[in-house]
Amino acid sequence: MANLVIPRENIEGGDAVTAGIYQLRLDDFKPKFSKAKDSVNLNPVLKIVGTGNPDIDEKRIFFNMNTGFGPGLTDLVHAAGLEMARVGEDYAIPGKFDGPDDDPTKWVYGAKDGVTLKGKVLQAELVETPSLDDSGKPRVDSKGNVKMRNEIKVFFCVVSGCEVVHSKALCK
Ligand SMILES: [Zn+2]
Repeated sequence: MANLVIPRENIEGGDAVTAGIYQLRLDDFKPKFSKAKDSVNLNPVLKIVGTGNPDIDEKRIFFNMNTGFGPGLTDLVHAAGLEMARVGEDYAIPGKFDGPDDDPTKWVYGAKDGVTLKGKVLQAELVETPSLDDSGKPRVDSKGNVKMRNEIKVFFCVVSGCEVVHSKALCK
């Protein structure tokens, strides 16, 4: 049997950073089907940069970026200074995903027509919310304190002349 150990913070979340406005660098996507397989969770790899604090920089911030939820997609793309790509009357994420239609975990994200989200730095407002277990109860540490995690509340659009009404609360 392989010794597959998953760091606790990957499951439970590490220490949350103080709520506020942060720069997040988009390194990649780790797509996979939603449970119902009717949409794809793009799982962007977003990491805090530019605080100068080694405990905070490179900390990963999760964002539920699902192809079934348009506002979240557009908000992230506009925060990178890009527009959604068009496919006829429909939309696509700028850049491209190469791989088999039936297995998003094999998709590799890269540039299309010289445009990519990879490496872009986005400004976002983070909030602290309780980390919940599978039954929806807040996780507590050994001292009985509720464990907190970060969620992205708002992405700040930097597309000049943008007329899209962006979400003011992407999380509850
Ligand atoms: Zn915008």
